[in-house]
Amino acid sequence: MSYHVNEKGYYGQFGGAFIPEMLYPNVEELRQNYLKVMAEPDFKKEFDQLLRDYVGRPTPLYFAKRLSKKYNTKIYLKREDLCHTGAHKINNTIGQILMAKRLKKKRIIAETGAGQHGVATATVCALAGLECIVYMGEIDIARQAPNVARMKMLGAEVRPALSGSRTLKDATNEAIRDWINNPVDTHYIIGSAVGPHPYPDMVARFQSVVSEETKWQLKTVEGRENPDYMVACVGGGSNAAGAYYHYLNEPSVKLIAVEAAGKGIYTGESAATSVLGKEGVIHGSKTLLMQTTDGQITEPYSISAGLDYPGVGPMHAHLYETKRAEFISVTDDEAMTAGLELSQLEGIIPAIETSHALAIFETKKFKPEDVVVISLSGRGDKDLSTYIDYFKL
Ligand SMILES: *Cc1c(COP(=O)(O)O)cnc(C)c1O
Repeated sequence: MSYHVNEKGYYGQFGGAFIPEMLYPNVEELRQNYLKVMAEPDFKKEFDQLLRDYVGRPTPLYFAKRLSKKYNTKIYLKREDLCHTGAHKINNTIGQILMAKRLKKKRIIAETGAGQHGVATATVCALAGLECIVYMGEIDIARQAPNVARMKMLGAEVRPALSGSRTLKDATNEAIRDWINNPVDTHYIIGSAVGPHPYPDMVARFQSVVSEETKWQLKTVEGRENPDYMVACVGGGSNAAGAYYHYLNEPSVKLIAVEAAGKGIYTGESAATSVLGKEGVIHGSKTLLMQTTDGQITEPYSISAGLDYPGVGPMHAHLYETKRAEFISVTDDEAMTAGLELSQLEGIIPAIETSHALAIFETKKFKPEDVVVISLSGRGDKDLSTYIDYFKL
């Protein structure tokens, strides 16, 4: 069984490139070039240098002593929260901006929901000196003002998406429309392991540095490269894809994917795609998707903007179908409690997305000798007002 993409762009039955005819040349250009470009020594050198000197890699693998004591198991945190801009997303945008330059693109477009991917994209566009246009739903622009200000300060133009529910899905549609109209000079930087092939694979490869580092870091401290469990939260699936990547074909490493159950899986206010989703097509790939019986996409809900997505990437849909990964759903309340707990036990305020992954210790029991690695995908600065409102701090 392979958990990697095949040459047709599929993970088992999921993936592919379901795109309008007019987008075909753009996606095809990328498909024909991405592996070749990534294999070039110059590309690798520049990518590695920027990850080191600009992003701050390798990120530490931190043994969380007090958290481990409380749950009577060995918990390590892979500190993506210490990356420049505060989360793992920059690993992917650095890779894609270098790809865009190799493909001689002059203009970058991106979609963003909460603004985290927009900020990571605006950052690398400033770094590379390329024009940056970020599409963002009008509603999101209003509720994510600090990130809108960051993008503007970095020199990006933020264009409101005015159609539909005026949130992430509509921003994505606008970005795709822009790409169709600007096929020659524009690269579209997608922010997660989603979209038409080759995006999920390309994003997973750029994020795979997370498990690559974890291997040698664990070897140093535990004398073995493989943990017993690798745990990550899943929105579209990019931090999980990176954390799993080098462990996909290591059956001794159990993979755990944590989804947002919002107010409860069956409350109608949830983003637990693996439980509620059925096969469907979203943003160019066939995957598991929350939808009504007649195929309309259901509006997802989660307290965390980064997990508030009605689908998962095709790699994760396949990991779910094949049972290679165990999927666990965590509610808003459970996640918020876990976020507060990490803050007070370890002095680390996590992003609310990440807090979902941390919440599994309340329900799932591990053995004292188990080595459990959590992808600490991001820091909580951006979520402070949500934590303040929730805990009445
Ligand atoms: C965006 C984001 C996520 C969710 O995205 P994935 O592509 O599933 O990783 C998780 N954590 C943080 C901190 C994020 O910013």
